[in-house]
Amino acid sequence: MLDTPRSVRLHIAIFGRRNAGKSSLINAITNQELAVVSSIPGTTTDPVFKSMEISPIGPVTLIDTAGIDDEGELGELRVKKTRQVLAKTDLMVLTISSESTPDEFDENILEEAKKRCIPIVGVISKVDIDSGSNAALWFEKNKLPYCRVDSLTRQGVDELKLTIVKNAPVDYLPSTIVGDLITQNDVIILVTPVDAGAPKSRLILPQVQVLRDALDAGANVMVTREHELDNALKSLKNPPRMVVTDSQAFDFVSKVVPEDVPLTSFSILYARYKGNLREFLNGIKVIDTLKEGDKVLIAEACTHYPSHEDIGRIKIPRWLEKRVGGKLDISWVVGGDFPENLKDYKLVVHCGACMINRAEVLNRLEKCKEAEVPVVNYGILIGFMTGILDRVVSPVVR
Ligand code: SF4
Repeated sequence: MLDTPRSVRLHIAIFGRRNAGKSSLINAITNQELAVVSSIPGTTTDPVFKSMEISPIGPVTLIDTAGIDDEGELGELRVKKTRQVLAKTDLMVLTISSESTPDEFDENILEEAKKRCIPIVGVISKVDIDSGSNAALWFEKNKLPYCRVDSLTRQGVDELKLTIVKNAPVDYLPSTIVGDLITQNDVIILVTPVDAGAPKSRLILPQVQVLRDALDAGANVMVTREHELDNALKSLKNPPRMVVTDSQAFDFVSKVVPEDVPLTSFSILYARYKGNLREFLNGIKVIDTLKEGDKVLIAEACTHYPSHEDIGRIKIPRWLEKRVGGKLDISWVVGGDFPENLKDYKLVVHCGACMINRAEVLNRLEKCKEAEVPVVNYGILIGFMTGILDRVVSPVVR
């Protein structure tokens, strides 16, 4: 259970005013002393992530958020972090202490959740103190399911879990990455280059996830480096059902794989699985309208150390500038950072986003849409640059 990547877990964020009892609530749900608990408002300085299993949903990530109504410089930072959490939230647990009355904070957070279509489960915390708060009335007025929880005795925690199960979105992640494109006993080849940029002694997450997904579909999976691919193909009696490669090897691999064998990439499968493939494909149209000096944002959803021929830092800028015939004004964001204001950019190029959940990817796409900035992902951009976009997208478009 602990090995399930965070990016494919249902994300349940615990929101509430400072000292609403969020950290104690997480401790009660997980039955652990996890978050810093203090009676001083605003003690939790960073969102805290905790993995657990809630049956029958499966693996989930619980997120303890900072107080969004905090003040001062540190408070602003907390607010930014809380907004980043909102972007990846699949279900919100809105906590109101029985000592307090719902106020502007609760109204605002409710509004934010509604805007993003995030389902909400209410919690009235600290029920041992009950001082006549009208939290119950407020939840009822807003037609929100809610539970009363005493985190100290864990009274109400089971009911809360049941309410979470009832209200959890079922479509937070498509059920398969590649399984619907193949059938049992198909042979599928995964091409995983092992170059200087590859991590030592392991495969990267998209490769592992596609491998597991293909095995779940009953396929026979061959894994090879690009230079052994030709031999791998020749060793088969019949052509494989599909070849999936790292997009960076498109040029080489597309020349080795026969034209009639479907070819795609991990990144393109991910564009379909986590994002919106059509939106990324639309973004391609802008490439040939880019001009020298245009602002381009390259977004990577994790903070890996860039290699000397790094795809995001070196190769993509080089390809784009060669195509444009001049220098572009390129900037980068990594990890959880994504600009609120994208208006000045002419294009956003996003990585395969294997480390963030689907809600966060869709949130980023929505921001691009609002700012009317086209967005592409690495695989689609590389397919376009190598002149084989139709070929590598057609196996995944239905
Ligand atoms: S840069 Fe993006 S695709 Fe690459 S490992 Fe990080 S999150 Fe995954």
